[in-house]
Amino acid sequence: MSVSVDRSAAAASDNVWDMAQRQLDEVAKLIGLSDAIHQYLRVPKRVLEVSVPVKMDNGGFRMYPGYRVQHNMSRGPSKGGIRFHPDVTLDEVKALAMWMTWKCALVNIPFGGAKGGVICDPKSMSLQELENLTRRFTTEISIIIGPEKDIPAPDVYTTPQIMAWIMDTFSMQHGYSIPGVVTGKPLAIGGSLGRDKATARGCMYVIDEAIKVLNRSIEGTRVAIQGFGNAGLHAAELMSKRGYVIVAASDSRGGVANAKGLDIAGLIAHKAETGSVAGFSGAERVTNADVLEYDCDVLVPAALEKVITRENAPRIRAKIIAEAANGPTLPEADDILFERGVMVLPDILANAGGVTVSYFEWVQDLQENFWEENEINDRLRRKMTRAFNEAYEQSQRHGVNMRKGAYAVAVDRVAEATKLRGLYP
Ligand code: NAD
Repeated sequence: MSVSVDRSAAAASDNVWDMAQRQLDEVAKLIGLSDAIHQYLRVPKRVLEVSVPVKMDNGGFRMYPGYRVQHNMSRGPSKGGIRFHPDVTLDEVKALAMWMTWKCALVNIPFGGAKGGVICDPKSMSLQELENLTRRFTTEISIIIGPEKDIPAPDVYTTPQIMAWIMDTFSMQHGYSIPGVVTGKPLAIGGSLGRDKATARGCMYVIDEAIKVLNRSIEGTRVAIQGFGNAGLHAAELMSKRGYVIVAASDSRGGVANAKGLDIAGLIAHKAETGSVAGFSGAERVTNADVLEYDCDVLVPAALEKVITRENAPRIRAKIIAEAANGPTLPEADDILFERGVMVLPDILANAGGVTVSYFEWVQDLQENFWEENEINDRLRRKMTRAFNEAYEQSQRHGVNMRKGAYAVAVDRVAEATKLRGLYP
């Protein structure tokens, strides 16, 4: 069997599904993946498209299109968030599902990859309408989810409250509580300690490792962070406590910088009060674009996709980029950064702390036995450190960047499981 890949078309497109397939194609070549397995992994295992009727507050109803994509389940049940956003597309959900397969394999948790999405504008919906949407979407996809099959989690614009509604809906349909059907739940119904800061904490652990292999020291290392939400704010808080100096931070309304270091406790209080980091005193005003190019040692993009491009890559001054966000670096920028000696810690590594603690949450739910927070953080540190070192070792061995090194580890693991299980029937 041979895989036919139109590389020129994929290269010319900025469609994320093309990008995800192209990344796999490159790694397949690098690690000598067989054509048969390559073909198997290049497409999702299962795609469910649903139409979700929702009762609206005005007495009428609206139809919302939704998707659940399961990319691969060779290593275990599939895992991945649900996104509520007006720009959701099936191709985006397919790409995110494939990336989840690699992320779970890289940190070596026994999950495959999945993702879900509903095309909607949650900001314009009431809480009741959101609950109606969530419960009906859960019902529509309930035929393929479950603690042993596919376990959703929060993603863009889906919250612990929404996870609680998913858990309740699924449980009501089965007649008993099934907390393991979803992760990112509130603590009171089977959520895990440490889940809220897990993405940021995992990101910090891999930055710590990068600092080590580059023979630098944490104390005084200057960090710029784009995005000040769950990932960015917690990264700023945890890293400043650890001895890093946060010199710039931004959110959708703008940014602030201080070459000597921002007062992070003050900045978090300012954000809580005003809804933004913009306007914080004792700092200069900078734009979101400025933050990416600010004079620093470590850059943490923690907001949007596709912000590091071939235009700004030559001007980035950081020596390490840790992708807390999914997909912040375009492939052309990756090449420029590699040539310039910048170490990019790819999203499937740098933000894998979230899914790792989601896995811990699922294990605790199944065992009905909950762990202390220090045990969770300790297990997380060990998983992240090992994943970093394995990806680093592959990148050194093949003379490639950390993204390809991480993919080499992950794709190889999924390929091995797929091969061992064989083709049924
Ligand atoms: P969030 O909604 O909590 O925060 C997003 C932040 O980005 C906000 O501060 C927002 O103001 C800022 N932002 C929005 N538009 C911006 C713009 N144009 N310029 C600069 N900042 C802008 O989301 P989050 O959970 O922190 O997720 C951020 C990224 O991290 C996403 O790519 C997400 O997929 C990724 N991620 C998050 C987790 C997690 O556990 N939270 C896990 C893995 C990956």
